[in-house]
Amino acid sequence: MIDRQALRHNIQAEVGRLKAGCDLFMVVKANGYGHGAAQVARVAKEAGASGFCVAILDEALELRAAGFNEPILILGVTRPQDAPLMAAQKISATVAATDWLAEAAKYLALAPTKAPLRVHLGLDTGMGRIGFRTPDALKTATDFMTTHSTEFIFEGIFTHFSTADDPDDRYFKGQVAKWHALVDTLPHRPRYVHVSNSATSLWHDACNDNLVRFGVAGYGLNPSGEAIPQTPYPLEPAMSLTSELVYTKQLHAGESVSYGATYTAQQDEWVGTVPIGYADGYERRLQGFHVLVAGQFCEIIGRVCMDQMMIRLPQAYQRGTKVTLVGRDGDQTIRLQDLADYCGTIHYELACGFTDRLPRHYIN
Ligand SMILES: *Cc1c(COP(=O)(O)O)cnc(C)c1O
Repeated sequence: MIDRQALRHNIQAEVGRLKAGCDLFMVVKANGYGHGAAQVARVAKEAGASGFCVAILDEALELRAAGFNEPILILGVTRPQDAPLMAAQKISATVAATDWLAEAAKYLALAPTKAPLRVHLGLDTGMGRIGFRTPDALKTATDFMTTHSTEFIFEGIFTHFSTADDPDDRYFKGQVAKWHALVDTLPHRPRYVHVSNSATSLWHDACNDNLVRFGVAGYGLNPSGEAIPQTPYPLEPAMSLTSELVYTKQLHAGESVSYGATYTAQQDEWVGTVPIGYADGYERRLQGFHVLVAGQFCEIIGRVCMDQMMIRLPQAYQRGTKVTLVGRDGDQTIRLQDLADYCGTIHYELACGFTDRLPRHYIN
C-alpha cells in the first residue's frame, strides 16, 4: 500500500524549506523506488515538484506517455542514437564525455525535427561513476556546445556526492572543493546548477544551488539508514506491505517446513502460510525474520519460497487474517529499515526490488 499523504508530507516539507528560486525535481527512477513512477510523479507535482529525474530513457518516455510535460532529466548515460528522440520529447540528457556530444550531434543534424537536445553536464568530483573530471575536459564540452548551438541547449551542470549521508563530512568537503574548482571556471552558468540528492539537501543544504534532486527522503526513508537520525522534518514512510494467511495448520513436534527441511518443530505449534515470496521481492534471506499478525511478531520459519512462505503463529488464526510484512499493526511496527538491517542491505534496494506482481494500492 502506498500512502499518498506521506509522499505529499515529505515533498511539501522539503519544498517548504528550500530557498526562493531553488527547484525540486522528484527522482522517480526504478518505478519511483518501487512506489509507482507515474503515481508518485502526480503527487510530487501537486506537492511542489517542478520536474522529475529518472535513470534511463524508457522511464522518461513512460512519464511523457502518462502526460507529464515538466522537465525530465535522465541521470544515466543514454545512447547518442537516441538524442533526436530525447530532443523531440524535451527530455534532458546527462552528458559525461565530449565524444558523446560529437556523436549525438551527427544524429541531431540528420533528424527531421531539428529540435535541440537539452544537456546537463555531469561532473565527477569523487563519486567515480560518470562525469568530466578536469577543467580542460569541461571546457572542451562547453566549447563544443557553443559551436553546435543548433543541436544543443546547455541547460544544466551537476555533480553527485558519495558520502552526503555520512556523519563524517571530510570526503564530502573534498568533493565540494572539487565541484567549485570545476564549475567556477564556467563563463556562463546554465539554467540548472545542482549537487543535492536527499542527503545533501537534508544535511548540507547550503550547497543546494538552484535545484535539488529529491529521491529517497521523498518516500519517507532516511538516506543514511540510521547513521544520522535527525532530519529537518519527520520523514513519513509511504510504503507498507500486507498480505493474509491463506492456509493454517497445526504442526506436530518433529515435523519440518519448506525446502531443505531447515526448520523442525520442537513442539506442537500453529503454522500459517503467506502467499508471498522472493519472486515478489520478499528476499529469501528473510528466513528467521518476522511479520506481524494481530499486533504480534511471528517468525518466518523455513526457507522463503518463490511464491509462499510459512510463519509460526502463537495460536490458531482464520484464513484471511491480515499479515503485515512492512508497516504498523497494533502497537508494533516493522520498518523497511528493519528488513534491510536483517538482510545486510539498504532500504533503497528492498523498496525498488518489490516486483510488479505485488499490486500497489494507493490511499489518501
Ligand atoms: C538516485 C540519484 C539521486 C537521488 O538520490 P536519493 O539518495 O534517493 O535522494 C540523485 N542524483 C543522482 C545522480 C542519482 O543517481
